[in-house]
Amino acid sequence: MHIQVLGSAAGGGFPQWNCNCHNCAGVRQGSIQARPRSQSSIAISTNGEDWLLFNASPDIRSQIEAFPPLQPSKGLRGSGIKAVVLMDSQLDHSTGLLFLREGCPLPVWCTEMVKQDLSSGFPVFPILEAWNGGLSWHPITIGSELQPFHIPEFPLLRLTAIPLRSSAPPYSPHRHDPHRGDNIGLFIEDIASGGSLLYAPGLGEISAELRPWFGQADCVLVDGTLWQEDELIVSGVGDKLGTAMGHLPQSGPNGMLAFLDTLEKPRKVLIHINNTNPILNEQSPERAILAEHQVEVAYDGMQILL
Ligand SMILES: [Zn+2]
Ligand SMILES: [Zn+2]
Repeated sequence: MHIQVLGSAAGGGFPQWNCNCHNCAGVRQGSIQARPRSQSSIAISTNGEDWLLFNASPDIRSQIEAFPPLQPSKGLRGSGIKAVVLMDSQLDHSTGLLFLREGCPLPVWCTEMVKQDLSSGFPVFPILEAWNGGLSWHPITIGSELQPFHIPEFPLLRLTAIPLRSSAPPYSPHRHDPHRGDNIGLFIEDIASGGSLLYAPGLGEISAELRPWFGQADCVLVDGTLWQEDELIVSGVGDKLGTAMGHLPQSGPNGMLAFLDTLEKPRKVLIHINNTNPILNEQSPERAILAEHQVEVAYDGMQILL
């Protein structure tokens, strides 16, 4: 399968429109070595023509323009995007659905919890009903035993949804009442090549249920939001801790890097990187630490073949 990174930044993108932090100011002025990044989303294809979109970011329009296989190729109207999978109902992962309205009806796969959020607090599903039938919902079910599912347009992909410990967005009716399925990671296998990917752009904790999937995957493309737990506080842009926002920081004895070090098999790539994260600066000491641990940083336009 071909995995295309359409966007690699966390919500707000890099630089973020209203941010003047060291990184955002530095990338604008060219005083640090860093690439601008759009908000996180990936697309996967097994035939190069039909693409499964994972999350629909507010930057979807420019992401399509930057990657010709998603553009119309046959007929007067069309798209390489044949279906969408949502990992959660966060704004930076679902707002892009509004900009895909001209392509309705569009199959959207997500959990019951995400469907509820996107029908109430952020009502994308009802809003789009007026556009040629809108979004056609296909439920991702999460039982006590995790079962793989198939998306008809992608017969060679087998997907398994893994519930993640994270929090629903502020507009969710169950913001303070977490449910299994508010947030998922996906284990994605190409049944022809045998290649497998673990995709989890928002990950607050490596739970016992999630841990084995890391070991099985050929590549893990996982939460790279924050370098340190109190990053938003020390950079002066916010008051929340990383884990309180559902993001496990990279550094520290219980951080993502220490955990990734325990894994032999997978290629390790961080995605969904917040604009405050020092790893965005390619000459930072933190970026050098990642390189020592053989951990890569996703960038817009990155391709991974499995
Ligand atoms: Zn996000
Ligand atoms: Zn910034």
